[in-house]
Amino acid sequence: VFRNKLTFFAAAKVSSSFPPPNLPEIAFAGRSNVGKSSLLNSLTRQWGVARTSDKPGLTQTINFFELGKLCLVDLPGYGFAYAKEEVKDSWEELVKEYVSTRTGLKQVCLLIDTKWGMKPRDRELINLMEKSQTKYQIVLTKTDLVFPIDVARRAMQIEESLKANKSIVQPVMMASSKTGAGIRTLRTVLSKFARY
Ligand code: GDP
Repeated sequence: VFRNKLTFFAAAKVSSSFPPPNLPEIAFAGRSNVGKSSLLNSLTRQWGVARTSDKPGLTQTINFFELGKLCLVDLPGYGFAYAKEEVKDSWEELVKEYVSTRTGLKQVCLLIDTKWGMKPRDRELINLMEKSQTKYQIVLTKTDLVFPIDVARRAMQIEESLKANKSIVQPVMMASSKTGAGIRTLRTVLSKFARY
């Protein structure tokens, strides 16, 4: 499925403008600067081209992309110093609505920087997904920046902290957009959600 052309087809600021859920969806979430755009670019090899609409870190829209029989969804990044409390509130409202009501959402990939680990805002999103029984998967990013032993430690630490919710959390995956490590495996795992 990752050989298909990536096409941007919708951006939503409010849940009423979510497009009809015609395809299985994989959503990508994480703090600003976690490496989300780089990862999407490594996975699809065409992210920069497809991504037309936004200024990174500032937009609070959910962007929908078609990739063959799969829909990739870019959730707005969080965790930068919010200028205004209402920005955080609107993010929360939008993402909460998306993860808890979206039909067709198969899995959320929650990106976490290997070096920094899980932060309170990541935990908030996890709580939200657990409440709505949304399947999710942690993807450790920028694994090239730490020693392999520390990558493994981080993965174990995260799995340990999430083990109460085994039914909806998938094993931790690891990737580096810089070296390409883990990218093929991630593609294989995500391809399984595509409709054939
Ligand atoms: P986003 O805000 O989550 O979309 O993050 P970006 O993809 O824009 O990446 C944020 C910064 O981290 C940029 O300077 C990237 O070059 C860097 N970065 C992203 N992925 C990696 C990676 O796998 N390895 C390394 N070393 N740097 C990365």
